[in-house]
Amino acid sequence: MRSLASVLAVLPVALSCSYPPQAVIEERQITKRDVRAGGKCGSQGGNAACAADLCCSEEGACGIGGYFCVAPGCQLNFGPACDGNKTPPGNDTSGLPRPLFGDVPYGVDVSRCTVPGKVAITFDDGPNKFTNELLDVLKKNDAKATFFVVGANSGKGQIEDPSTGLPATIMRMHIEGHQIGSHSWSHQDFNLISSQQRRDQLVKNEIALVDILGFLPTYFRPPFTKWNDDVLADLKKFGYHNVNFDLDTQDWKGDYQVARDSFSSAVSQKDPASTSFIAVAHDIHEQTVRGYVQYMIDQARKYKYELVTVGECLGDPPNNWYRDSTSGREFGGPAPEKPKKTTISAPSTIPPQPSSTVPAGISTKPPQTVAASATPAPGPKSTGGSNSSPPASTSKTPKSSFARHNKSNSALGVFFGFLILLTWI
Ligand SMILES: [Zn+2]
Repeated sequence: MRSLASVLAVLPVALSCSYPPQAVIEERQITKRDVRAGGKCGSQGGNAACAADLCCSEEGACGIGGYFCVAPGCQLNFGPACDGNKTPPGNDTSGLPRPLFGDVPYGVDVSRCTVPGKVAITFDDGPNKFTNELLDVLKKNDAKATFFVVGANSGKGQIEDPSTGLPATIMRMHIEGHQIGSHSWSHQDFNLISSQQRRDQLVKNEIALVDILGFLPTYFRPPFTKWNDDVLADLKKFGYHNVNFDLDTQDWKGDYQVARDSFSSAVSQKDPASTSFIAVAHDIHEQTVRGYVQYMIDQARKYKYELVTVGECLGDPPNNWYRDSTSGREFGGPAPEKPKKTTISAPSTIPPQPSSTVPAGISTKPPQTVAASATPAPGPKSTGGSNSSPPASTSKTPKSSFARHNKSNSALGVFFGFLILLTWI
């Protein structure tokens, strides 16, 4: 019979994510290495590890391919080739300065909005094949949401890989005014991995997101919504808010009557004049995207709630939702002071430069700073981690996928460069 403690330990998982929990142990506990395909590994195989090119499946067998390698089931410490052990190409962000800006607290559980009358719907575990359709629904309704993205889960490939179509989906989230947060690289339980592995999970997702967007998020939702004091301390060290929720739609259960009742009972029984919600749903589920999202939008508006991002419902300016990939400061925040090289005033006919207060997260066009932030970050350092292979291309010059595919940014860069020049002469 299961003890009460073991039941309680699983409970938070059941509340948020449909993935089964997986125990990940310290590397020092590995008893044997280089087990060949077909051999036993992991907790089911006496803590033996597979050969370098193999994965250790959730069931404890060495092999290669989706069944064995898919995250989060693949056992990181015993399967060197697990999807979760791969490192995306791009500039390592682990050495980035991480000042703690804004008024939203770090190192604590953030589960409630501070601005009344708002519903912040958050979508975990994507993007995947349904996410573009979800964005269509949100756009049609002019509703904003927050996406806590996972870098490489469920065999979807890596989010920065253009062949998956996922980079364009993530850029679309940003362009259409939604907030993007991190949900880790491969959805491991942060309570069950080491501090080094947690860092690895954060940094790998950052590398991929910087490759796509040119900046990285400051909002994080821990996989399985599980954390302890050590996790909170690590998140604070890496400049992340730990974002929980107070309205569980339970959409992952697949019973959408339950999901509808969960949502409608919450928004109908509270006064929007004094209440707001952070709701959790999952864009990996077809029925969530095809029907349930529209239901949530309609219900929230019926009871006079506004659909916003998590940052907005916390009263946090959009610049604080992201960190610049070169300075580590808030993204699109105050520009560094320009050198005073002239006493001549700028001609009055010159239009103002883009305001530093333009929200990075709610622009309807790609922000100029996206291209600027694709400049090389401080020198690469290894992401380290006992289970991580060395960064594949840490010497690669980082380049935002968006910048790569949008030559118009270059023209805009020349334009603004010209304006800056005019202000100097
Ligand atoms: Zn999740």
